[in-house]
Amino acid sequence: MALDLPFDNSYARLPARFYTKMPPTPVAAPRLLALNEGLAQQLGLDPADLKTPEGLAALSGNGVPGGSDPLAQVYAGHQFGGWSPQLGDGRAILLGELLAPDGARFDLQLKGSGRTPYSRMGDGRAWLGPVLREYIVSEAMAALGVPTTRALAAVLTGEPVQRETTLPGAVLTRVATSHIRVGTFQYFAAQNDVEALETLTQHAIARHDPDAEGALGLLQGVVARQAALIAQWLGFGFVHGVMNTDNMTISGETIDYGPCAFIDAYHPMRVFSSIDHQGRYAYGRQPDMALWNLTQLASALMPLIGDIEAAQAAVDAFTPAIQTAWMGVFRAKLGLRTEEESDGPLIQALLARMAEDGADFTNTFRALGGEAAADQFTDRTAFAAWETDWRARLAREEATPEDRKAEMDRVNPALIPRTHRIEEAIAAALRDDLAPFHRMNAALATPFDTPGDFAELTRPPKTDEIVAQTFCGT
Ligand code: AMP
Ligand code: MG
Repeated sequence: MALDLPFDNSYARLPARFYTKMPPTPVAAPRLLALNEGLAQQLGLDPADLKTPEGLAALSGNGVPGGSDPLAQVYAGHQFGGWSPQLGDGRAILLGELLAPDGARFDLQLKGSGRTPYSRMGDGRAWLGPVLREYIVSEAMAALGVPTTRALAAVLTGEPVQRETTLPGAVLTRVATSHIRVGTFQYFAAQNDVEALETLTQHAIARHDPDAEGALGLLQGVVARQAALIAQWLGFGFVHGVMNTDNMTISGETIDYGPCAFIDAYHPMRVFSSIDHQGRYAYGRQPDMALWNLTQLASALMPLIGDIEAAQAAVDAFTPAIQTAWMGVFRAKLGLRTEEESDGPLIQALLARMAEDGADFTNTFRALGGEAAADQFTDRTAFAAWETDWRARLAREEATPEDRKAEMDRVNPALIPRTHRIEEAIAAALRDDLAPFHRMNAALATPFDTPGDFAELTRPPKTDEIVAQTFCGT
């Protein structure tokens, strides 16, 4: 008997050209690796149900839950600037939408669930490594307070997948307020399908911008959400790595944890992705790339907006919005409650010092709340000069040192998912040892707390532990 889930599938009620309806492809021998019980409860699901054979079948693609209307979504996108007129869920199936007890609507999607008409040359599958990476990093992002898709479960399929070597296959259950992307709009715009654009716009407004008036209002909402999102990425040293228009959501949630990474030694042009040869999606270029993507969204929406100056103004609002958000994020990281003209240069001066010395991004900001920040720098004299300026600025704030430290510790995490630790957890999982994976998830659930038992997870990689490149999660 299949598990019944309280789905209400609004995307499946859209016209047939928005998707291909099809079930996930069954797998040989599913085994539950991780279940996010807190998230299950938030969704109104009973974790115990998900652990039954029926639950495991639902999470692996072996049994379509009752109430599901499974489908693969179609979309398009610019990948590294190059146009692909048709992408789509090549290895994902949307099972349906759940209405959580608080009324919020969430997509439940299986990733790694078999081939679809959008798979192109791909096998429709995922291997264990990227599934565990997405689980760890997306949940860490959620704990940091960054809008993101979530991970409900990870299962082994019991089937091998062929990459450079033969690896164990896995399926991730992803939760999102929707999977609508900039590229979903681009797909219909490229076909001059204005009717579909209008339908998609109304659908997206209902889900993400209920007060927006029309396509222009939706565009303004997306611009505002992306500005806030990317300022948060920058504040945590996060590099998305593959900010293609098909990987940018309308909801403002981070999506697609492929070659992403948190910076250890800071440099503004830090790139991780093995395929990003030009540094297109480097840390410090992310605001420009978001603006580029938002321009594509505006262009896709033009048949509905009509007024090109209004569309341009909506896109132009991104730059001041992210500048304001960025200042807010970094002022807080430096313990500043008030605003002064010189704060921007003060922040930039610190970042320049950090880049010069290759200071660890996370540990430097965390240490600013304590006493030992100078230890993060090789040129202590230069840091001391900056610190003198900063202390002079702090002297013009009202907060007591104790309150300031507490406030700074609430925005400067002690723990982020470091790439070398993720790789270590994946390597252990390949030996059937899931302890490091579970330990990381436990630590990252409270990233702002004093790490205590998890102190070793705050350590930057030693030279021989540095992971220079990350790979798309294929
Ligand atoms: P991504 O780089 O994960 O954003 O993927 C880009 C596109 O390739 C999306 O349309 C994916 O669904 C598709 N894709 C990625 N990996 C696979 C795979 N192993 N099999 C089929 N399609 C894939
Ligand atoms: Mg993608």
